[in-house]
Amino acid sequence: MPLIVQKYGGTSVGDLERIANVARKVAARKDEGNEIVVVVSAMAGETDRLLDLAKKIHPVPNEREVDVLVSTGEQVTVALLAITLESMGYKAKSYCGWQIPLQTDSSFGAARVTDVKKEAVLADLRNGTIVIVAGFQGIDADGNITTLGRGGSDTSAVAVAAGLKADRCEIFTDVDGVYTTDPNITSKARKIKAIAYEEMLEMASLGAKVLYIRAVEFAMRHRVPVVVRSSFNDNDGTLLTEENPEMEKESVSAVTCNMKEAKITLSGVADQPGVASQIFAPLAAANIVVDMIIQNSSADGKADLTFTVPEADLTKALEICRDIKNRLGASDLVGCNDIAKVSIIGLGMRSHAGVASTMFTALADEGINIQMISTSEIKISCVIQKKYAELAVRTLHDTFGLEKSRS
Ligand code: ADP
Ligand code: ASP
Ligand code: MG
Repeated sequence: MPLIVQKYGGTSVGDLERIANVARKVAARKDEGNEIVVVVSAMAGETDRLLDLAKKIHPVPNEREVDVLVSTGEQVTVALLAITLESMGYKAKSYCGWQIPLQTDSSFGAARVTDVKKEAVLADLRNGTIVIVAGFQGIDADGNITTLGRGGSDTSAVAVAAGLKADRCEIFTDVDGVYTTDPNITSKARKIKAIAYEEMLEMASLGAKVLYIRAVEFAMRHRVPVVVRSSFNDNDGTLLTEENPEMEKESVSAVTCNMKEAKITLSGVADQPGVASQIFAPLAAANIVVDMIIQNSSADGKADLTFTVPEADLTKALEICRDIKNRLGASDLVGCNDIAKVSIIGLGMRSHAGVASTMFTALADEGINIQMISTSEIKISCVIQKKYAELAVRTLHDTFGLEKSRS
């Protein structure tokens, strides 16, 4: 019997009516003669609500306890979906992460999956039960509840699919698939039929939250067949695939935008060996991921360093940087979250010249100032002021002709 893992995100299980809709979709697949594991997120808005409660008590709440708190969101949904399926006459059983167990490391709030035990789930599947797994959560080697990072239910689904060697992993969400850019920003966005793991990885890491980056990493490493599609209609979705030569034809295949980063500038530090490591080592030790870095050196032997961190880590990063500023005798420290990072992505950029200058000219023509730039073989990112983010996305989408690109 084919084994299918389906994942439904927060909007898809946002209220009881939508949970009933999910139950009907799951039941239909079961009736077709499949074994089904369903992974669900918390109901839309619930994770934010829980995080806000903790932050009302303390700006940087204890990380272990935050995971205990936010994991409850998914626990509610698994039970509600199991109750719904049971009431429709199906055998269904919910699992929290620790009951599988889905084993992770101990990085609270950003834990990595290390192992998915399959015995209990397989035994249930073999006796005809629909297994419903709480996304986003796991358990570490000491028995602590952990969570996998915002959007992490996608990772749970792919990890469970890999662990159970499922035939397919279907990610159901509130859009029809992966588009050339966020379809909620421009109606000109086009659905992509098939996308290479590598391209999807870049899109996810640059702000296309339709799939969480670690889920893509996991799918790529374990070659899990993943399809992204809508929970509200039966349209074909987007398939994650190996690279194919077609994909190299276009220089740019997608535009993304990340509004969830912040910028820190540390001015007047000594321009000498070892300074950068004294700044970035303590941030890394605190599990803060630094993204773009720019250093400007001046004639007086001093340097200014500007770098970006996730907006959610800005308070913690500034606390650490205040210590660093005192230790290094820096002249100034400024944090700013009024930024957005817009990026263009494409496997074809490897072989097309002039893409960067086209991007910069398009932004300049709209009067958008570029604060920071970073490039790789298959992407170019620019940090700009937040209020220009959507204009920049629409402009770049038009400039690179994505409305007409592969779909
Ligand atoms: P879920 O709750 O189902 O996990 P998410 O909100 O995490 O859903 O992801 C779906 C959202 O991703 C869409 O509503 C859309 O606004 C956004 N998105 C951003 N970039 C893209 C893209 N390139 N293609 C499709 N959706 C995108
Ligand atoms: N509920 C979690 C979040 O909102 C995980 C997820 O939805 O994927 O980030
Ligand atoms: Mg998501």
